[in-house]
Amino acid sequence: MIKILVSDPLSEEGLKILNEVKDFQVDVKTELKPENLKEIIKDYDALLVRSATKVTKDIISAAKNLKIIGRAGVGLDNVDLEAATQKGIIVMNTPGGNTISTAEHTMSMILALSRNIPQANSSTKKGEWKRSKFMGVELYSKTLGIIGFGRIGREVAMRAKSFGMKVLAYDPYLSREVAESIGVEVVELKGLLADSDYITVHTPLTEETKHMISTGEFALMKKGVRIINCARGGIIDEVALVNAIKEGKVAGAALDVFEKEPLPPDHELLKLDNVVVTCHLGASTEEAQINVAIEVAEIVRDALLGRGIRNAANYPCLEPEIFKIIEPYIILAEKLGVFSSQLAEGRLQELNITYSGEIIQHDLAPLTMALVKGVLTPMLQETVNFINAVSLAKERGIKINEAKSSREKEFVTLIQLEIKTDKVTKKIAGTLSANKQPRIVKVDDYYVELTPIGEMIFIENWDRPGIIGNLGTVLGKHNINIAAMTFGRQTPGGRAISVLNVDSPVSLEILDKIKKLDNILSVKVIKL
Ligand code: NAD
Repeated sequence: MIKILVSDPLSEEGLKILNEVKDFQVDVKTELKPENLKEIIKDYDALLVRSATKVTKDIISAAKNLKIIGRAGVGLDNVDLEAATQKGIIVMNTPGGNTISTAEHTMSMILALSRNIPQANSSTKKGEWKRSKFMGVELYSKTLGIIGFGRIGREVAMRAKSFGMKVLAYDPYLSREVAESIGVEVVELKGLLADSDYITVHTPLTEETKHMISTGEFALMKKGVRIINCARGGIIDEVALVNAIKEGKVAGAALDVFEKEPLPPDHELLKLDNVVVTCHLGASTEEAQINVAIEVAEIVRDALLGRGIRNAANYPCLEPEIFKIIEPYIILAEKLGVFSSQLAEGRLQELNITYSGEIIQHDLAPLTMALVKGVLTPMLQETVNFINAVSLAKERGIKINEAKSSREKEFVTLIQLEIKTDKVTKKIAGTLSANKQPRIVKVDDYYVELTPIGEMIFIENWDRPGIIGNLGTVLGKHNINIAAMTFGRQTPGGRAISVLNVDSPVSLEILDKIKKLDNILSVKVIKL
């Protein structure tokens, strides 16, 4: 008997799928205390959760038979992925189940904002009849700017077009052709900010998108613009938004998500009449709950019955002996992907992967999956996984070419990636150290010896004396410890690269100081 524990409420439709399998024993035990979950988890083969159950390292270490953790929903903050991976437990999520609900919520917010529906509703219920106070605006012939043109952004675009809106889209990671096939105009961020009457964000929250709409961006917008965020709190800088509303630049905002949730009751946003708020309800529809319950039940059922793995957020399922051999290469491939996509600016167009040396005797598909997952992770976060990475990349118009070469002489095994965007072509190569740790050994034509881990400062510079001292001084002044450094140059005195592993985050201010040092050509932070 295969035992499945459902530890958060899951719609009946999902439970039914599991209960129909005669070899499954399904126990629904919700609101368990961590100590109770830890006690009973040893008996189960699979665990299904929503967001309430915290699947910590402690719980995972107590699990003796657990093979699969299914998360009904997208976010994986409540599951310790690393601990699960180490124990060989597959973690699965359901990234697509709430797309329509969130797109519809966004449209509801746009309409509520335009017609003052929440404000008029509460006034009318108080017995008032203030028709002139709630004069609205039409959506027809207005311009909607969509930042982040993934699943939800595209559904919002289609709905907005049916209202007669002109739609602009900004998504630096999506090929122009894919976006244009949906009938929207693809623009740069500045153009979108300047030309939109409504701006809605649909990106994940990443280093790059945090506060991507702040004082400088509000300054570029039209007076009277309306702002919508049904994606993640923090993409819009709330302090800057409050100021822009108070100054009259922004006519109103509709927000479902906040920098701090639940929203503190004394928050400045709540004091503004032209702000419409909901309590993170984007995915809260009966249909979305049912969709994610059905999806998670199906993928967990199929995985348990050996019918294939879908939506795995950690490693692809492989024979344990094979997995043991290629796991270090999977880690290397993923890191090469994450590193290179932060290094290469511009819209991704092509990935050319060459495997050489010992590794070519194995199945390379898991390595390519890992590499592509790595490339897409900085832009898509948890919506990309090992299983959907290659198809997501293709859907985005990214070409993937894989080649084997038996000619490698220098390294026992080498994975080389050429990443092409509409702006640059970068080449990165990696191998494993003697103790099977990932190493980047070449960036473009520079040989380096780089451990791809944590926070790194990537610098292009002229190879002149004094660079290291200057860098050390700037970082030292800001109390940033350098853990490791690597340098690469082609000719003495020529162009060179320097990569520093540092122990704490590097702010924009520090980067700016480094940029201004003598002989520095460019500098950026890369995070793994
Ligand atoms: P998705 O991965 O399909 O799309 C995200 C898009 O953002 C991608 O196309 C990516 O290329 C783009 N992007 C990444 N960085 C960008 C940048 N710097 N500038 C512009 N575009 C950038 O994700 P999705 O399923 O459409 O979800 C979008 C957001 O909505 C996510 O943050 C998700 O967590 C959130 N969400 C919220 C709710 C809710 O309850 N309010 C529900 C579901 C999803």
